[in-house]
Amino acid sequence: MSDTPADTPLSSATAPDAPVSGRCLCGAVEIVLEKPDPAINVCHCAMCLRWGGGPFAAVRAANHSIAGEDAVHIYRSSDWAERASCRECGSSLWYHYLPDGHLSFAAGLFTPPAYMAISEQIFVDEKPHWYDFTQQTPMKTGAEIIAETKAAEG
Ligand SMILES: [Zn+2]
Ligand SMILES: [Zn+2]
Repeated sequence: MSDTPADTPLSSATAPDAPVSGRCLCGAVEIVLEKPDPAINVCHCAMCLRWGGGPFAAVRAANHSIAGEDAVHIYRSSDWAERASCRECGSSLWYHYLPDGHLSFAAGLFTPPAYMAISEQIFVDEKPHWYDFTQQTPMKTGAEIIAETKAAEG
């Protein structure tokens, strides 16, 4: 469904520690990830589906830089999280988990290096019946993820 004939390539053979750059659909917001986590987490929860129209594939990084912050719209989606999107084109940009400050960026913004792969699927109990990924990964329910998060926060 791409509507740009000369879109970016689907993957690149970048060295593991090289920065990975991405942008929203209109290009107003550009994000560079330093040392991105190779593990992409996919969330099937009802909020992510409404927010992006499909499951949210998220990538984290040790560091990041964001250009075009004026175009970033922040929506406080719950007591514990904010979701950022582009004011111009509406692209989903990141999920901000407020308790630890971590940003989970929308994986689709980036030209993914070959080493990135889906490592886990969460909120599988909220996944609609009309799709399934073929990757075999740990599948965690919302209750399991909430319990893990609480344990990690002590
Ligand atoms: Zn945009
Ligand atoms: Zn979600």
